[in-house]
Amino acid sequence: MLIAVARENQTGEARVALVPELVPKLITAGYEVAVQPGAGRGAMISDEEYTAAGALVTEDALSSAGLVISVQPLDPDRLGQLTAGAATVSFFPATQRLTEVVIRRELQLTSFAMESVPRISRAQTMDALSSQALVAGYRAAIVAAGRLRKFFGLSMTAAGTVPPAQVVVLGAGVAGLQAIATCRRLGAVVKGYDVRTAAAEEIRSMGGVAIELGLPPLEGAGGYAREMTEERALQQRELLTPYIAAADALITTAAVPGRQAPLLVTAAMVEQMQLGSVVVDLAADSGGNVEGSVPGGVVQIGGAQVWGGAGVPSQMPGPASRLYAQNVVNVIMLMTGERGFAPDFSDEIVASMCITHAGEVRHQPTLTLIAQ
Ligand code: NAD
Repeated sequence: MLIAVARENQTGEARVALVPELVPKLITAGYEVAVQPGAGRGAMISDEEYTAAGALVTEDALSSAGLVISVQPLDPDRLGQLTAGAATVSFFPATQRLTEVVIRRELQLTSFAMESVPRISRAQTMDALSSQALVAGYRAAIVAAGRLRKFFGLSMTAAGTVPPAQVVVLGAGVAGLQAIATCRRLGAVVKGYDVRTAAAEEIRSMGGVAIELGLPPLEGAGGYAREMTEERALQQRELLTPYIAAADALITTAAVPGRQAPLLVTAAMVEQMQLGSVVVDLAADSGGNVEGSVPGGVVQIGGAQVWGGAGVPSQMPGPASRLYAQNVVNVIMLMTGERGFAPDFSDEIVASMCITHAGEVRHQPTLTLIAQ
């Protein structure tokens, strides 16, 4: 069976779903691999590298493929080029793209969504949300360090001592912990805050100081964060204000599953920061943790410049593609049986990822929305 690697065509998407290093693994597993010309260009990978790894580079890759892999979901025009029964693996926020779900159902396509990989131990190697959050957290730290007109690390010189930067990180999931670790490696003093009980220990394990506000933890199903009530949000903002006012750089990464990102920092709180300070809001394109942040833009609030993230993993397309491609190849291997590509729909991971199959919508939340 042929696996096709689609050239991404969404503005700002520089990643690619497969890197040359992983082509031999698919070939050894019995697949042929075809890549659309220029698919790797954004990630600084040439067509020749794919050819040298054993892939065929052809514009027609999609029409003869049994499986098409991409980062962003294929647009409806390109879905029409696939043969009935073909499968796709990509990010696919199905509940927000119901028209495309219906098109996929009508075209008898099997669609697997990378963001629906369940967060169980067995699926960790396939968890693209985590791998891309790791890249975003790293990038957030580098952006903060690059924009701050101060040293991140302590420097003791004959001309005197340069003090380390003070960084506060709000939200200590995968991205926040990576931001903490990266800021620490650059020498900053880092304080972190998260509403989950386990987070304080995780922040300390990265070399950060865990901020204790004395508020009850906010945990829901599976130990994930719950949404704040307005009363709790007010208390939390009030207690965090002095930490933020004292920070040279603030990085926010908070998210709540299935909800808009919580507003953690008001413009009034940012205004208390010193002239020249930097705010990096990684949640800017999912609602924003910082009031007034603009996805993909930089705005000045008081003395602070506020950088809003948009498609942040794509800003480090090489490593983001390598990690994503490894996640995708692990998914393909899970779905490979003795006779090739044969997803076992009774497997928890396969079932969770499946949006459409054999003319049906299989993803319950999406099905409910379509029925309304
Ligand atoms: P995420 O991207 O969904 O959210 C980022 C963080 O924001 C979370 O830690 C959350 O607690 C925090 N947050 C939410 N509301 C907040 C608020 N009001 N104030 C401060 N912080 C707030 O998180 P994530 O990276 O998906 O990680 C969440 C948890 O899932 C972690 O415990 C992580 O270890 C775990 N996880 C497990 C797996 C797995 O088992 N395969 C994979 C990835 C993550």
